[in-house]
Amino acid sequence: MITKTVFVIVDIIAIIDILFTIRAAMRIKAEYGRWLEYTLIASVVAILANIAVACSVSALFAKTAYCLYFSSIDWILYFLTGFCLRYTDHVDQLKKLRVVSAGIMALDSLSIFANLIFGHQFDIYETVTSSGAVFYQTSFHPSYYIHLAIDYITILIALFFIVHKIASSYDLYRAKYVIILSVLLFVILLNLAYMALSLVLDASVVFYAVAGTLIYFCAEIFVPKRLINSSVIRAVDDMNEGLILFDINNRCIYANAFCSYRFDVNEPVSYVMDELKKAGKRFGEVPYSRTDGLINESFKIKYTSLLDRHARAIGSYFLIQDTSEETRYMEEVEEARIAADNANNAKSAFLANMSHEIRTPLNSVLGMNEMILRTADDPEIREYAENIKNSGNTLLNLINEILDFSKIEAGRMNIITGDYDLQQVIRDCYYFFEEPAGSKDLYLHIRYDEKLPARLKGDAFHIKQILTNMISNAVKYTKAGGVTVDISKKHIGSSRIELIFEISDTGIGISKEDVPFLFESFKRVNERENATIQGTGLGLAITRQLVEMMEGEITVDSVPGAGSTFRISIPQEIADPSPSGPLLLRHKDDEEVYRESFRAPDARILIVDDVPLNLKVAVALLKNTQLRIETAGSGGEAIDMCRHGKYNAILLDHRMPGKDGVETFKEIKETRLNHDTPVIMLTANALGDAEEEYKKEGFAGYLSKPIDIRAMEKLLTDVLPSELVILSR
Ligand code: ADP
Repeated sequence: MITKTVFVIVDIIAIIDILFTIRAAMRIKAEYGRWLEYTLIASVVAILANIAVACSVSALFAKTAYCLYFSSIDWILYFLTGFCLRYTDHVDQLKKLRVVSAGIMALDSLSIFANLIFGHQFDIYETVTSSGAVFYQTSFHPSYYIHLAIDYITILIALFFIVHKIASSYDLYRAKYVIILSVLLFVILLNLAYMALSLVLDASVVFYAVAGTLIYFCAEIFVPKRLINSSVIRAVDDMNEGLILFDINNRCIYANAFCSYRFDVNEPVSYVMDELKKAGKRFGEVPYSRTDGLINESFKIKYTSLLDRHARAIGSYFLIQDTSEETRYMEEVEEARIAADNANNAKSAFLANMSHEIRTPLNSVLGMNEMILRTADDPEIREYAENIKNSGNTLLNLINEILDFSKIEAGRMNIITGDYDLQQVIRDCYYFFEEPAGSKDLYLHIRYDEKLPARLKGDAFHIKQILTNMISNAVKYTKAGGVTVDISKKHIGSSRIELIFEISDTGIGISKEDVPFLFESFKRVNERENATIQGTGLGLAITRQLVEMMEGEITVDSVPGAGSTFRISIPQEIADPSPSGPLLLRHKDDEEVYRESFRAPDARILIVDDVPLNLKVAVALLKNTQLRIETAGSGGEAIDMCRHGKYNAILLDHRMPGKDGVETFKEIKETRLNHDTPVIMLTANALGDAEEEYKKEGFAGYLSKPIDIRAMEKLLTDVLPSELVILSR
């Protein structure tokens, strides 16, 4: 009785164990999980049948329970083999075998149950032990061995595929299959041992529970863990970073391949420890570099503590990053940047030089031409001179554009703000384009919002440049009709407005596809049609840059063949909020003929330039002012003259051999007679910040070459003592 009770208890424990394993197996996503699950379910059936055998009260009951038991063994083996094939990735073989094997197993199960009628497989006989307990045991007929053979063949198939897989896989994965094979062999051995002992009760079903649990444990926990561990170690070895692990007692327990290959482990460790100690830190990051022959290597070494899931220290580790590539790359980038900067500076210097060199002869050309215009009466000669003037101005514009562009590129274009009269800016632009538009029979209309503030604060010079570029393009690219410039505002606060310019023309227009390229440097669109129109493709690029530097916006709306409208909005401060009133425009003809703006027969001025022709031009241009002009051909000569005579103003060139303009200026300031004489810089240096620079040096004014006679006269009127100046009416 005790034997039976122990037997049943063990069986029940086995069932509970299997049920837990089934629950776990149901969570397996891979298909072999299903096969394992069914194997375990069949095992439960087998164990239940086994309990029934143990608790049998009659031979017939025991016979029926044995039938259930033997046939459930069939299905355990069927599903187990299915699991083995699926687990070892023999998918095709499984597909081929599963139906046939299921058929064989079904027939065998039927044959076993037919034993209840025919008794062809086994008989039941009673054994009564000395304690009086009754056990029902089996005596087998030869046909039972067919069933046994089927079972063994099935298990052999499973073993065959596992062994095949073991033979065809390499180290890491071989272990995965060897474990399953070992479990199966273990169960077979236990079974054989049981048969050899021929005990009164069949305890072998318990092994199925053990086997199922072991297989689950191996397949889902042990093997993946082992795989992860080996893979992590491989990955850490393959890393292009070093890893050195220390246990809690600071004993080195691991160093990956990177470390053992590149370092003596103690080398970085002691270096970092020393550095951290010096910095008074326990952990941290330290740069480390060394030279190996010709190769410079740099590393970033991080030393930090290793914590477990509950943030308890379990050791520490060093992480070594090779930053040599990065450092080399940064050095290369820096070198490239310096080279690019040098090239850019060389280009800017070249452009500035070229501009200077071209301006100097152009000054003579335009200056002398101005003298012809002033003195010649012959209309034919005047027309020739007008043509020279126009071409000279075009050439000057071209130089200015290239220079502006290089200034923007070199970051030397500055926005200089000051109070200005917007009407004056508009008037200047209008006068400038009235004649070119008229000569093409184009109208030039200005629509001006009378409520615009009388004075604004901003960069008048560059606003004028923007407007000039836009009107110049509108006139250039319009054959018939004309150009309308609309000036309005939008309030953006009590002291700020958005100044809006809309320049519309009835010209050739721009196609939609070309619009995105319009503001690119050196880009001229519609090149075929515009081939005869002069341009560099820089005007709009410069305009956009200037507008953006003033935090404004430029947009374009154009219809090919109908015309274009460029809209520019620029925020400006209000300097005087009173309305400026209607725009007053004089007719250009009124001031077309040159007339000096002042006369100063008692004023004495000195002009200094190393190019005799420049001196000639300046003297000639100022002739009508009746100034008493003296000239000097070098800085030294000028200083000498300043020591002996007093001047009311001095005009000084910058680039001169020997003493340059700035040196000369400083020495003049030390002379007793002329230390307070206003000195104007008259130079071909037209870089953006030139005027500011000269004023910082102490110059009273700045004039660029070619000389604009009106600007020159205006500046002289400002600096000369007012009692010596007689203004013209
Ligand atoms: P460009 O010196 O060639 O005039 P811009 O940068 O000022 O250079 O203009 C770029 C191109 O945009 C011009 O070549 C021209 O094709 C086109 N464009 C500019 N303004 C107009 C306009 N008002 N009407 C038609 N096309 C224009």
